[in-house]
Amino acid sequence: MRLIDSHCHLDAAEFDADREAVIARARAAGVVHQVIPAVEAAGWPALHALCRDAPDLHPAYGLHPMYLARHREEHLPLLREWLEREHPVAVGECGLDYFVDGLDHATQQHCFEAQLRLAREFDLPVIVHARRAVDAVIASIRRVGRLRGVVHSFSGSPEQARQLWNAGFLIGLGGPVTYDRAQRLRGLVATMPLEYLLLETDAPDQPDAAIRGQRNEPARVSFICRTIAQLRGETEDGIAAATRGNATRLFGLPA
Ligand code: ZN
Repeated sequence: MRLIDSHCHLDAAEFDADREAVIARARAAGVVHQVIPAVEAAGWPALHALCRDAPDLHPAYGLHPMYLARHREEHLPLLREWLEREHPVAVGECGLDYFVDGLDHATQQHCFEAQLRLAREFDLPVIVHARRAVDAVIASIRRVGRLRGVVHSFSGSPEQARQLWNAGFLIGLGGPVTYDRAQRLRGLVATMPLEYLLLETDAPDQPDAAIRGQRNEPARVSFICRTIAQLRGETEDGIAAATRGNATRLFGLPA
């Protein structure tokens, strides 16, 4: 089985001690591509170096809303330079986080929509973080227009999912869908059209139910695939092939 982890933070410090072993386990588990979105400008060079000689590791560059205090206005023109020079698979991770206290909403929106405009200018998909902010994210996506991308770790309603699909966006699902208590999310993934689904781990965060409380890693995308196959009553191979096709098309990955 061949899988794509559409969202993991392999460059995170949590992997500094054993990153090579983590990559090896992912490959052994059938993960043929990993999309690795940056979170702040200071991390772009190390992410670039990590992916440079690995044809299965794909960086995206962006400014994550949870790190708002570290972003500077000049990081936006710098991002433009990186997009122009590096031709990454996406812009991101960017978005809106209305859950964490102290992240000014207007500043977040400014930073997010500037990145959406860059994605549109460079015709790149955008990797979006939306926590307690799905409606605001949809409004920004509509305001900028002519975009495509993924709202990762989607946690909204079926109606919000439909609005995103209509706006050209897929949804990424990972660890949360493996917990019994996630009834709305499990109901959505059981019935939604597969063409809008990406698999993700968000490693090292969001461990699935079988590794609760532990560090997550990209090899676990196989467990996400198995869980979604069970919820839909379909084969793991079918889920893997469909979501691999979706990720390959969205990010322009080698088939
Ligand atoms: Zn993330």
